[in-house]
Amino acid sequence: MPGYNSLTHKPFIPGIIPPAGPPAASWWFIFRKYALLITPPSGQVGVPHLPRPEALGLVPLQEHYLGQWAGVPCFAAEVAETATPPAGMDFQSLRALYGSLDEDLFWLAGRAVQIVDWDRTHHYCGRCGSLTTQKVGERAKVCPQCNLTSYPRLSPAVIMSVTRGDRILLARSGRHPAGRFSVLAGFVEPGETLEECVIREVKEEVGLDVVNVRYFGSQPWPFPNSLMIAFTCESPAGEIDLHDNEIVEAAWYPAGALPNIPPPITISRHLIDAFVRSVH
Ligand SMILES: [Zn+2]
Repeated sequence: MPGYNSLTHKPFIPGIIPPAGPPAASWWFIFRKYALLITPPSGQVGVPHLPRPEALGLVPLQEHYLGQWAGVPCFAAEVAETATPPAGMDFQSLRALYGSLDEDLFWLAGRAVQIVDWDRTHHYCGRCGSLTTQKVGERAKVCPQCNLTSYPRLSPAVIMSVTRGDRILLARSGRHPAGRFSVLAGFVEPGETLEECVIREVKEEVGLDVVNVRYFGSQPWPFPNSLMIAFTCESPAGEIDLHDNEIVEAAWYPAGALPNIPPPITISRHLIDAFVRSVH
């Protein structure tokens, strides 16, 4: 597992301006809406590796250079909703590919889908409605009429493990798969510090006061554009009070008797694993 200061196992160097010269063999993250073109659809799943997608009969509506992964250029592209996958390939929901797509490619695809989605939702200026243009050398769109500049949008969310001695608080949300328990999380509100958000979310969701809020790590979560910022904190006393109907069940669990928890790739699981290590 890579550390939190590098999401990919092999080094990724982000960039905006593609390398000069004729197109070299590159990784292409090609989206039809939110579905990624994968090759082949069964077995070891990857993405196309070739100089240009036109060789597959696909014409990008937009394309963006992402940077280099292990020295190989990476591009994000969008194709028409009516595009058909080339023979032997398939378009699949990125979320469904988590676990079967190479982990580095999954995170790079998460980067790609957010840039493609930002581009398609910023063709027009949000202030005056004029057609925007791509700003040269920056991941930004600018309005030629009123100069409003739009950058890819991120929605920061905090995610936190709440512990009490040798137990961790795990909760089941109506949004999770049936039977799945996890740590608490919530979106940051304007004007709030991350620490204030942790304290507010825990209070709102389970009615507990927490102390010792400490930074743990972060993870982009491209569904659709979250940045998860993880914390640990402690709840010394008090009763669980579920007055937020988003949480349907919450309880304290010892490390030896955890319920069904999220898969290893997620930062929620990393928080739970860190708790288990801390009590052993
Ligand atoms: Zn404008």
